[in-house]
Amino acid sequence: MTEQDSRPPSVDRLARSLHDTGLPHPMLVEAARAAISAGSPDDARRIAEDMARRMLRPVINGTGTLLHTNLGRAPVGWEQTEHYSNLELDLTTGERGSRMDTAPALIAQVCGAEAAIVVNNCAAAVLLVLASLAEGRAVVVSRGELVEIGGGFRVPDVMARSGARLIEVGTTNRTRLADFKQAIDQHGEEAAVVLQVHQSNYKIVGFTEAPRTAELATLNRILVADIGSGLVDSRCPWLSSGPPGWLDDEPAARQTLEAGADLVTFSGDKLFGGPQAGIIAGRADLVAQCAAHPLARALRPGALVLGALQATALAYLNRDGQAIPFWRMATLPQDELRSRAENLGVGTVLDVASTPGGGTLPGVEIPSAGVAVEGDQRNSLRNRQRPIIARVIEGRTVIDLRTVQPDDDSEIEAALTPGTG
Ligand SMILES: *Cc1c(COP(=O)(O)O)cnc(C)c1O
Repeated sequence: MTEQDSRPPSVDRLARSLHDTGLPHPMLVEAARAAISAGSPDDARRIAEDMARRMLRPVINGTGTLLHTNLGRAPVGWEQTEHYSNLELDLTTGERGSRMDTAPALIAQVCGAEAAIVVNNCAAAVLLVLASLAEGRAVVVSRGELVEIGGGFRVPDVMARSGARLIEVGTTNRTRLADFKQAIDQHGEEAAVVLQVHQSNYKIVGFTEAPRTAELATLNRILVADIGSGLVDSRCPWLSSGPPGWLDDEPAARQTLEAGADLVTFSGDKLFGGPQAGIIAGRADLVAQCAAHPLARALRPGALVLGALQATALAYLNRDGQAIPFWRMATLPQDELRSRAENLGVGTVLDVASTPGGGTLPGVEIPSAGVAVEGDQRNSLRNRQRPIIARVIEGRTVIDLRTVQPDDDSEIEAALTPGTG
């Protein structure tokens, strides 16, 4: 039967026939319209199912990438009830309070900072810092740190939007303190800020040189360190076993401030292990200057994010890394993952390498374990009610159990058992 043989069904009737998908009527109408106008009403169900699949939902991360950018970076388990909150009410005085007195104050304590504020993400944090401290003036940056972090965060572009002028110093691979000194001598007070940007997602190896934070702190300018990843303390007091070897020399907020940075900026959802957010922590007068800038109002988070950040900050203050999903997963011993893989009873148990991900710690691998089954089964795994995201390694579909919640092991088992997937 060709399309011409039958009159196209009414959009409304077709939409009604799809009600069992559970989608609201207007979405079904859209699916029906799209199918009819493409001349294939029979496709309406598939279009509706695609719409349903596109909606935000929990997925099982079997990739072993702990901070998977496509899967929302750090997983957080925060729920709030329908109640009002004291978001901007000081319960002691009954007066208007500040939302920055809640989670941000706790985060400051975690980092050993005088003060902190929170914005939408780290890109926003850098934007706000530069706009607040260097608008109409200049920021000195090493050419080796004019980075693109991914997702369109390019330091020179952010700088341009902040209204600060960029003064580049040094070369791609080598920049010395003297290069900064020279630029500051030349530009005088116009060079208001020195910005250090962590090369989060790449490494320059070989003949390289860059001044340390402590050296840059001697320049007599406001020193801002965009550390990005949000490691709060290099000693990791929230882990009973201390800092894992794979952390390498990742810069940490507390030590960067101790070395003389006036402000640090970092993401909430990378190594900090919280929700998407950007944190500005450091000197109280500079944090206050950022908070007073008109952009701060446009970039501020709501109670949902502040609640999740508060829970994360409390876990740090309680030295309870187990309460932070990223740190709990990142530090699971390989033996434990191996025995979970054996208990699944499907596929072949194998050792694999997890990665921190999230544009942090490039090249770092964490020994892990999982299971493999023959062939590329990624499509069918992804199309399950509870999507499972897997990798293909040498023709086999591999699930790394490090990033899988133990509660979901049975789901993996069901998905990989032949004839039931
Ligand atoms: C990841 C990163 C950013 C961007 O952070 P978002 O929270 O994604 O906006 C900025 N700077 C550095 C150094 C980073 O690593």
